[in-house]
Amino acid sequence: MKIHHLNCGSLCPLSHPLLNRAIPQLDKFNLVCHCLLIESTSGLILVDTGMGLDDVKNHERYFSNFRFKQIARPKLDIEETAFMQITRMGFNPKDVKHIIATHFDSDHIGGLADFPWAKVHLLKDEWEAALNPKRFREKARYNKIRWEQNRDVEAYETQGDIWEGFKRVQNLKDIDPSIYLVSLPGHTRGHAGVLIENEANIFMAGDAFIQEVQLGENKVPLPISLYSRMTNEDSHEAENTIKKIKALRETRSELSIFCSHDLNQFNKMVNRK
Ligand SMILES: [Zn+2]
Repeated sequence: MKIHHLNCGSLCPLSHPLLNRAIPQLDKFNLVCHCLLIESTSGLILVDTGMGLDDVKNHERYFSNFRFKQIARPKLDIEETAFMQITRMGFNPKDVKHIIATHFDSDHIGGLADFPWAKVHLLKDEWEAALNPKRFREKARYNKIRWEQNRDVEAYETQGDIWEGFKRVQNLKDIDPSIYLVSLPGHTRGHAGVLIENEANIFMAGDAFIQEVQLGENKVPLPISLYSRMTNEDSHEAENTIKKIKALRETRSELSIFCSHDLNQFNKMVNRK
């Protein structure tokens, strides 16, 4: 199994002249959309897609009435899309057979439409939240134009498998058994991390946290706590999930734990031998 780390969308959230004057650190608050491309025996697997071709070409359609464009300020560069990167790497995008989604926010599934033939895997709670959004924030974050062309969806319920205190789903359909979905609720109803428990030892935590500093002992910088507060569905659950990830980092030091948007963590994983 070979794992590639791709940045499928640079973001510069909250960057606004007035805000920047009040909180100068905001200028440096640049994020990536960290996705994985896995070469496996069951074909290419994408973990999240980041921005898609249509996000770039037709962004008014996607972001016109949604706060995402104002909050996250995506760069929208076609060369950063998974489709273009995979093609540049010499693969055929048709060989992407599976997409595992941490959750259904636009910056994580913008590229689903570029791979309509792929089987999409996610937790059942997230699928239900996307199909039947309840609260205001859910109604604002999910948009079915993102996934309606992807007919092959596997939504998993967490059963009795508990791993390091987290509910986990084993045996994703037609996927290498060393790859798991791990429930990390809070950011969204059915938000998940992706664990690869083999020689790679990777735990991609999606948006359970957005910067590594949130796992440390020091006070979380204001721009980061602001951003989290604005985007988390359930702050209490999100805090609880972060606590468990902190404990996981203590007990499983061999695991590389990273989130979707931390630029430094992304660079570290790219440079890892
Ligand atoms: Zn995100």
